[in-house]
Amino acid sequence: MDSYAKLLDGYAKFHKQYLDKENDTWRNWAKTGQNPKVMFIACSDSRVNPVIITHAGLGEIFIVNNVANLVPPYKQDAETYHGTSAAIEFAVTQLKVEHIIIMGHSGCGGIRALMAGHDDDIKKDAEFSFIRPWMQIVDEAAEFSPEEKASSSIDTRATICEQRASLISLNNLATFPWVKDAILEDRLKIHAWHYDIGSGILLEYNAETEQFEELI
Ligand SMILES: [Zn+2]
Repeated sequence: MDSYAKLLDGYAKFHKQYLDKENDTWRNWAKTGQNPKVMFIACSDSRVNPVIITHAGLGEIFIVNNVANLVPPYKQDAETYHGTSAAIEFAVTQLKVEHIIIMGHSGCGGIRALMAGHDDDIKKDAEFSFIRPWMQIVDEAAEFSPEEKASSSIDTRATICEQRASLISLNNLATFPWVKDAILEDRLKIHAWHYDIGSGILLEYNAETEQFEELI
């Protein structure tokens, strides 16, 4: 089946399963608006959908997808477009989400592109107009000493880079004033996850041990 026809077929099934059977729920949502308590900042990668991975229902998770699940630092700069920052502002000040999860993942193409600028072992596939400057947000995540490079595989360094990038994003997230206030008032918790696509292993950063640790 053609990829577009597959979408329409899927929509017909969705309509039958949800809209026909749960009319009241949908009518209420249309009237009252959304009320998710969790926000995810996830990669655009098609294999890491937070709703599917957490088995959540529709309406439960507010999501921003961008290349490599990055959060830029708080900056009011009229000359730049801040799609991710706008979504965070809406989630925290209007939806009043209780958790924000930054979800990194294995085999991240954005991280690979960043590493290609630092690591001669990685072949540069393309010169990107937008990906490279976007990935500068977490540039230091890809810095490894010659000794570290000599004693580790590219895959190991990629995992470290993915996790470091999520931590930089976590720190950036905490620089937004209303995020800072919500954390101090114990209304909001922020998390960094790393999801391994092949094994399904899910890790969360533990600030006390300063390690990513298995969640379940
Ligand atoms: Zn990715």
